[in-house]
Amino acid sequence: MDDKQTGAWLPRLEAMVESGDEAAFYSWRRWRRLRAYVRKLDNNECQLCKAKGRYRRGTIVHHVKHLQDRPDLALSIWDPDTGERQLVTVCKSCHEAEHPEVLRHQDVKKPPVTAERWD
Ligand SMILES: [Zn+2]
Ligand SMILES: [Zn+2]
Repeated sequence: MDDKQTGAWLPRLEAMVESGDEAAFYSWRRWRRLRAYVRKLDNNECQLCKAKGRYRRGTIVHHVKHLQDRPDLALSIWDPDTGERQLVTVCKSCHEAEHPEVLRHQDVKKPPVTAERWD
């Protein structure tokens, strides 16, 4: 992503996060395209399981720095601050472990959100 492009979508995303509508981000075409790219990059393997020497199919692309905290990194594969991955392919159980706040919300909200929604 280059900076010229960043200008176009970031204010929109920030406004969505502010009003609690960030789920709509996951239907953006450019997110879907980028997500497919990241999964290919990771061979559809959960990178957190892989780090522990296990193989598990990864179906979710997770924001290491959460979307709500760093909307500016929403479409960055790499974190410019750390040089580490910002978008990473994970399996469902690893993803749930990364989002304890979502599980809490699920208790009170209906219907239950799908894993896909919380990429
Ligand atoms: Zn995993
Ligand atoms: Zn996530």
